[in-house]
Amino acid sequence: MSNLRFNAVKELNLGTKDIRGYGDQKVTSLFASNVFTTKAQREYLSDEAYKSIITSVKTGSKIDRKMAEQIANGMKAWAMERGVSHFSHWFQPLTGGTAEKHDSFFTLKGDGTPLEIFDGDALTQQEPDASSFPNGGIRATFEARGYTAWDPTSPAFILEMAHGKTLCIPTIFISYSGESLDTKTPLLKALDLVNKSALDVCHYFDKNITRVAPTLGWEQEYFVIEESMANARPDLLATGRTLYGHTPAKGQQLDDHYFGAIPERVFAYMQDFEQESYKLGIPLRTRHNEVAPSQFECAPIFEEVNIAVDHNSLLMDVMQRVAKRHKLKVLMHEKPFAGVNGSGKHNNWSLATDTGINLLAPGKTPRTNLMFLTFFVNVLKAVHTHADLLRASIASSNNDHRLGANEAPPAIISVFIGKYLTDVLKEVETRVTGKFTEQDEVILKMDIHKNIPELLMDNTDRNRTSPFAFTGNKFEFRAVGSSANCAWPMTILNSIMANTLIDFKKEVDALIDKGEKKEIAVLHIIRKYITESKAICFEGDNYSEAWAQEAAQRGLNNFKDTPRALDVFATDITKKLFKDLNIFTHKEVEARHEIMLEEYVKKVQIEARLMGYLASNTILPPSIQYQNMLIENVKGLKEIGLKPESFKAQMDIIEVISTHINSISDQVEKMIEARKVANELEDMHAKAVAYCDQVKPYFDTIRYHADKLELIVDDKIWVLPKYREMLFLR
Ligand code: ADP
Ligand code: MG
Repeated sequence: MSNLRFNAVKELNLGTKDIRGYGDQKVTSLFASNVFTTKAQREYLSDEAYKSIITSVKTGSKIDRKMAEQIANGMKAWAMERGVSHFSHWFQPLTGGTAEKHDSFFTLKGDGTPLEIFDGDALTQQEPDASSFPNGGIRATFEARGYTAWDPTSPAFILEMAHGKTLCIPTIFISYSGESLDTKTPLLKALDLVNKSALDVCHYFDKNITRVAPTLGWEQEYFVIEESMANARPDLLATGRTLYGHTPAKGQQLDDHYFGAIPERVFAYMQDFEQESYKLGIPLRTRHNEVAPSQFECAPIFEEVNIAVDHNSLLMDVMQRVAKRHKLKVLMHEKPFAGVNGSGKHNNWSLATDTGINLLAPGKTPRTNLMFLTFFVNVLKAVHTHADLLRASIASSNNDHRLGANEAPPAIISVFIGKYLTDVLKEVETRVTGKFTEQDEVILKMDIHKNIPELLMDNTDRNRTSPFAFTGNKFEFRAVGSSANCAWPMTILNSIMANTLIDFKKEVDALIDKGEKKEIAVLHIIRKYITESKAICFEGDNYSEAWAQEAAQRGLNNFKDTPRALDVFATDITKKLFKDLNIFTHKEVEARHEIMLEEYVKKVQIEARLMGYLASNTILPPSIQYQNMLIENVKGLKEIGLKPESFKAQMDIIEVISTHINSISDQVEKMIEARKVANELEDMHAKAVAYCDQVKPYFDTIRYHADKLELIVDDKIWVLPKYREMLFLR
């Protein structure tokens, strides 16, 4: 029965591994070789077509039909020279993953002539059947069509598989009635809005700026284990995490994995997926071991948000595909193993101007420093006002296992800004009194500049426990989960930033209209925002119980589970916000809320089923078998005339096994009952809450008894690979 487990161990020891990555090519000679870059566009497109695509990327202008035709032609020529036979619109539906539907360039003309064609229409629009993607009730069943539309701001690329290449066109995905069904559509809207609102504010200081682009550098954490081990764990395969498994005697307590030497096989794997990523233009830069055993991280050089998001989605696909070649399994789940750290995906975020200024980096002059302070304080204000939305943007059943588990930030949103800036804000608050005085000029001219050193980055002490930390020239949103698509937290963050900047400008303009000097007006609204958002700033230990209490006193919310965290989407304030910003209609907000609740229900439901299945099929049988062995043993000992004292240990174990078995059976039955009740509920919110409060709590109790059995039962007959085998063998 435990064959799979022992085969997995054997396979590993036999060294079935091909540790030869093909990572010996120079990165610069590979980089973006499979991307239709600006350089490739220059080469394959007419001047006219090239200009239209460049302008469109810069200004968001539409590309007309004639140009699209030309661009498609050039793209096809470029792709076919590289051995591409098919093309696909590539999009990110609300499943969190990516989707492709391949079409061949090949076609037959009316007279039977075979031709390879890729026209403007095929480039700009496709109509995949939307019925199998989550839509939250938007799409009536009789209208199954949705359509994908080209996003020229993210370059086309060639996806290379072992047996063929596909030209992929990044697209948005919307329903026939125009509602967004993907992660990219609202993201693009939010990014555009930040551009406009930030630009307006920039113009108080610098008229030369004509574009502001949010930037993102993500840090992807993941686990790598033996594929054969994963194959012997139905829970890992179906849910991405282990539902059972006792913590190993040696876990991460010795802190000997972080930044340690990367095991050779994993290193070969990393090199391999890095090379694939470079070809796709993903600028990976760092790799290292993480805190937990078998946990690693990689991070790229930051890029504009839309591209960075696409690159992260692509990378996750590439990593999974390449792992197979190495007989490894990559785990992106936020908490694959209990008792050791889970995985996150820090989202480093900032705002860059087309003149090369990072708006969240302190400047060289008093004027640029006032601009920095303006954007910095607007972030605080945005996070303070919309903390619940930001919390909701990272909510998932996976991430529930991680947030607040003393390894990741709690579910309470707060911002860490460091001592320097705390002092600067304090000073602005006390010295800009709220009345307009001559002091204001002095503060403006000298003090702000004096107080914000240009090299703040080296001075910000790091607070690893904060969910949202300023790290010198960017904010780091640390609560994002490792398996998440960055698009959603980025959509929310950029939306609330845009909203805050719009309000900020209104308030400043009102003061200017009253005759205040522009910079004095800015200073006063900054002061107002500092005062209003104070509660969100926290410099201490976010893991501590004291913080949870203090946060409650400050009025900050602590939504510990997904169904509650998502409630914010049901409020009128949220619906109005997104409607005013023109990012979501009411219907779209409601649909997304429904989709996220449904995803939660499905995930917990699948876990619950597997809990039950594994209990009866893999936990109880070896336990009973072992108990029988003991019973036989006791019978034998009795038969040869030994007294009960001599087999007391065996008797005790037999009894303990019975206790655990009974507890498991009893709890599994109750869990199934709770599930039945939950399944009866029509309302998705009620169902999610029922799964959260009534079903999920059984997981821990069932697991507790199962993990105890793992410790007792004869190792030779235990079925599921153990933590030490999955995490430490290599
Ligand atoms: P760590 O947080 O691990 O110390 P860094 O802070 O150097 O590492 O960088 C982490 C990520 O932050 C990288 O992906 C990096 O490109 C990104 N990053 C750096 N500057 C910016 C920026 N201005 N905007 C967005 N991301 C940035
Ligand atoms: Mg970091």
